Amino acid sequence: MAIATTLRQEVTELLQELIRADTTNPPGNETVAAELLRDYLEGSGVSCELYARIPERANLVARIPGRGEGLSLLFLSHTDVVLADPSEWAAAPFGGEVRDGEVWGRGALDMKGQVAASAVAIASLAREGFEPAGDLIFAATADEEVGAGFGAQWLCETHPDAVRCDFVINEGSGDRVELGGKPFYLCAVSEKMSAPFVLRVLGRSGHASMPSIADNALVKAAPLITAIGNYRPERHLIPEVEALLETVGGERPTSPDDVLDRARAVAPLLAELVEPLLSMTLSPTMASASPKRNVVPAVCEITVDSRLLPGTTPAEQQEVVRTLLGEGDYEIEVLEAHGGTRSPMDTPLWRAVESWVESVDPGARPAPVCVAGFTDSHWFREAFGSVAYGFFPSRVMKIETASRLIHSADERVPVEDLELGVSFLRHAAQTIG
Ligand SMILES: [Zn+2]
Repeated sequence: MAIATTLRQEVTELLQELIRADTTNPPGNETVAAELLRDYLEGSGVSCELYARIPERANLVARIPGRGEGLSLLFLSHTDVVLADPSEWAAAPFGGEVRDGEVWGRGALDMKGQVAASAVAIASLAREGFEPAGDLIFAATADEEVGAGFGAQWLCETHPDAVRCDFVINEGSGDRVELGGKPFYLCAVSEKMSAPFVLRVLGRSGHASMPSIADNALVKAAPLITAIGNYRPERHLIPEVEALLETVGGERPTSPDDVLDRARAVAPLLAELVEPLLSMTLSPTMASASPKRNVVPAVCEITVDSRLLPGTTPAEQQEVVRTLLGEGDYEIEVLEAHGGTRSPMDTPLWRAVESWVESVDPGARPAPVCVAGFTDSHWFREAFGSVAYGFFPSRVMKIETASRLIHSADERVPVEDLELGVSFLRHAAQTIG
């Protein structure tokens, strides 16, 4: 890499290079990104280690060792990206072009921008001779987008000593939003759980020309699908929603029923943020029955996507579903559940976010949110009890624009937001350390 004169230029150039290293998952090929990062970091004197389950899918872990027993902080990010169809893009998705102050390319937002900012933060601190109290770690992991066991999960299980830490800063949030006329930076402290299941409706096959002798599983499934689709799950007030409403509106809500009205009264965006955080969701998304037109199906399988509030278990979800569907000719296969973890809000990491926000944007405050999807944070919360937040600040690009571009065409990130990210990560390391 050419000698960069400012951190802004350094993070821009590193992101451009990362975007040009195609790590579309599948197949991933994250080793190209890990090696690129290793070369960059070692150039600043940061020691790196590559950990790979298979050679082409390496995870990079870099570290500035702590002076002693202080609290350790880990910058977490993933280097894989989702597919990009060049025909939909106004720029080459793996070109890493800078246009009008924005870096264009697949992964600019999700999340090579944060990868680059984390690398530049730790590299610049190392060059300044920064000696944290506890270890400062940077993990750029493989395989977040598919989650087939090559990335964060594998790293936490197989090499726990490499990534064990007290605090994690990961993706998930960080947008500056105006709510009720006041500025806030959203910080993700928890995530919903993804807990899908298959509803298998049972009948008896037969020739379709004589339907009365058969028992059509597809037809029997119809009212069950409708029941699931029409179901309005009970609302609950989770601590993150209470804290969010209190931070933004000044008042702690007392019941889950008036939360949406209160939120709407402050700002439509607040209502949009809060709505998925009031209850579990049940969404039938896939169906299969007879493979042949002239055969009445004996089995109809419905896959149901379901997201649970943190604190709700799949067993509680199943009780709700069975009560809803009642007795019948069906069985339920629970698929693997992920996520649904939370971190406390009263922590040194929260205070680091708070003091940074105050320093760059006087009058603004961080506001806690629960992410409706899930990230790799839960592996660290589960394995080490780490406090993990999703926070990468974004001020120039609006949340509405960013959410339209992630996993979509014309993904790009403003250079100014990258620089802001470097500033936050450096501040967090210096504050915790
Ligand atoms: Zn991501």
